[in-house]
Amino acid sequence: MSKKKVKKLINGKGIRYDGRKLNELRPIKLEVGVLDNADGSAYIEQGKNKILAAVYGPKEVHPKHLAMPDRSLLRCRYHMAPFSVEERKSPAPSRREKELSKVIREAFEPSVFTEYYPRTSIDIVIEVLQADGGTRCAGITAASLALADAGIPMRDLVSACAAGKVEGHLVLDVADLEDKQGEADVPVAYMPNLNAITLLQMDGMLTSEEFEQAINLAVEGCKQIYQLQKEALKAKYVEVKEAKKEDAEQ
Ligand code: ADP
Repeated sequence: MSKKKVKKLINGKGIRYDGRKLNELRPIKLEVGVLDNADGSAYIEQGKNKILAAVYGPKEVHPKHLAMPDRSLLRCRYHMAPFSVEERKSPAPSRREKELSKVIREAFEPSVFTEYYPRTSIDIVIEVLQADGGTRCAGITAASLALADAGIPMRDLVSACAAGKVEGHLVLDVADLEDKQGEADVPVAYMPNLNAITLLQMDGMLTSEEFEQAINLAVEGCKQIYQLQKEALKAKYVEVKEAKKEDAEQ
């Protein structure tokens, strides 16, 4: 669908312009272990978003002076490919990408057991191939799977999802048009087993009650995404088990 302005984003029956209910996520596809040359990787499609996440490490730190004696250095690079948005984007990291790299790294800090690997680094790379709103959250969801795929010990998976306000309604999983034409966007990253929020931002205007409702709605979305993450991880290990069985039979 073109990103041209849509007059009405929510109809009288509470159905959004893309056919979703107010509290409905976009269709999500998750795949684990999609890249041969990273230690861990994952791919996510969430609506029209298409995002790859790769993890390297724990490995020796370069440059060496950044190494920390008591824990691993967690680093993150969020990047949007030039072709990921309607008008070609410069490949150079923008201020927005630098900010997102920082908040995404911070979203993982409470989860990763960095203290297990002193003097090493763990690098998370998120490459947005196609963007349609909510890429920081979808990137976190994929990066969490890539960390698990790399065998990095974590206190919990991190699941992420945004809620927002569009035409006076609180909605789950804000798409690009809703983000641009809506009143507010609240991205949340959440560790479902620990019931802990690791990223919380807000863009726009909400009352304090609406803000609380938006957080709760986003957390509900994160819980649904967590189930999909677990399924995607299991699917990868079923594949590995079957491949081993076939090898043994040959
Ligand atoms: P998020 O993707 O996490 O929602 P933003 O709220 O900053 O982050 O961006 C919302 C959406 O705006 C993005 O998902 C993308 O579709 C679009 N967007 C971001 N940067 C650009 C850009 N440089 N050019 C065109 N569209 C962009």
